[in-house]
Amino acid sequence: MKGRIHSFQSLGAVDGPGIRYVIFMQGCTLRCAYCHNPDTWNTKTGEEYSVDEVLAKIMRYKPYFGANGGVTVSGGEPLLQWEFVSGLFRRLHEIGVHTALDTAGIGNLAGAREVLLHTDLVLCDLKFSTEADYLHYCKGSINTVISFLKLTETMDVPLWIRHVIVPKLTDSEENILRISSISAQFSNLQKLQLLPFKKMCLSKYNALGINFPLGNYDECPDSGIEKLSKLAEDYLANCIFE
Ligand code: SF4
Repeated sequence: MKGRIHSFQSLGAVDGPGIRYVIFMQGCTLRCAYCHNPDTWNTKTGEEYSVDEVLAKIMRYKPYFGANGGVTVSGGEPLLQWEFVSGLFRRLHEIGVHTALDTAGIGNLAGAREVLLHTDLVLCDLKFSTEADYLHYCKGSINTVISFLKLTETMDVPLWIRHVIVPKLTDSEENILRISSISAQFSNLQKLQLLPFKKMCLSKYNALGINFPLGNYDECPDSGIEKLSKLAEDYLANCIFE
């Protein structure tokens, strides 16, 4: 089984705990309006690697992982290639490497289950808080994501939920409370992270000749998430997980 891979990042520090080797899988069926990796959408491109070939790359960096680092598989949407990812994670577990799955929570649940069997942490993007916005801005359904999140809870895999703050689109208190309320349903939730919207991806859209749907929106300054993060934190602190 080979995986189609877009790229590798040898020492990442933002996609999960500690120092991580990050693998960006090729292919995604969503079309999120603020996607910063439109070059990963095409499911037919990317370079093919076997699990052994990827493992050989990872092993060079294993000494840097320390106590809490490891490997993150991101994308694109890694669950579209669940057979490859589950095979890779299984092998990583055999050698004691921490595995994190960075996903939008789409794809088939049976495949996701196979991946989650060997996953230590799920980073799931909850892109919008309503079905209407999911359909409009991502071309996907929030119900698929909720089903995936329920599966992570059933399988008791630690969960971080992430949400991008786009000024004048997702930065209302009402939206953050809805995102917090959805997140609070899951007893395996460890963290809700709000991330500021940036437009560094603009050159990729230009190179691909695709219109960037949020080109007219302002970036969110890092300070722009502070108040909303506090709101989410307070909401979650008042929830009792059963
Ligand atoms: S799920 Fe990720 S890769 Fe796919 S369109 Fe959305 S942001 Fe882009």
